[in-house]
Amino acid sequence: MTLLLPSVLFRWVGGALVGLAALILHHGLDEHRRRRRRPAFLYVCESCGLVYEDDRNVPLSACRRCGMLNAALQR
Ligand SMILES: [Zn+2]
Repeated sequence: MTLLLPSVLFRWVGGALVGLAALILHHGLDEHRRRRRRPAFLYVCESCGLVYEDDRNVPLSACRRCGMLNAALQR
């Protein structure tokens, strides 16, 4: 039993490292995608006040919370 302990520990540490690496990789890809994305248009919902972004170039965007159509803020 005592001989098995190091291999069990190895598996735990290995699993944790793989999980950590996957997290870092995922975060890195996310960051990359975020930077590549074109600047989004900013909207403030006139009905519920939700502030949200929409990167489609549309004159009116539907609020994600209540569905109200809002015009983009001027930047
Ligand atoms: Zn709304």
